[in-house]
Amino acid sequence: MRLIIKRKDLEKILKLAENSEIEVCGFLLGKNSDGAVLVETVRETANRLNSPVEFEIDPPEIAEVLDEAEKMGLEIVGIFHSHLGCPPVPSEKDFKGMELWRNVWLIVTSSGDFRAWVLRGENLGEVEIEVTS
Ligand SMILES: [Zn+2]
Repeated sequence: MRLIIKRKDLEKILKLAENSEIEVCGFLLGKNSDGAVLVETVRETANRLNSPVEFEIDPPEIAEVLDEAEKMGLEIVGIFHSHLGCPPVPSEKDFKGMELWRNVWLIVTSSGDFRAWVLRGENLGEVEIEVTS
């Protein structure tokens, strides 16, 4: 599986992460096609926990994003969030979230690293990221 994301969208997320003292989060909107996840746009959301070590998105805001995606003819194809003091690999809490949201999880760090993950059954798989111009 591959995650295809435009450079400007990835840079937008990295910039959010770099400038934040709490974990930033949001959704990747786009389409799934043939083992590839194509990101068309990214949508930042609030982290309702205001925390540097975890994040949660308010259900009403999730509903809003679903609505926006539908209007654009897109789906929520992934979730992004940032890590401040640790590598871009899922935390134990992220694993629990991944069991509910079984799409691609893009994790970035405030220092500019990024990796993407997906849960297959009980197993964590890394998703190759292709950055396009
Ligand atoms: Zn995390």
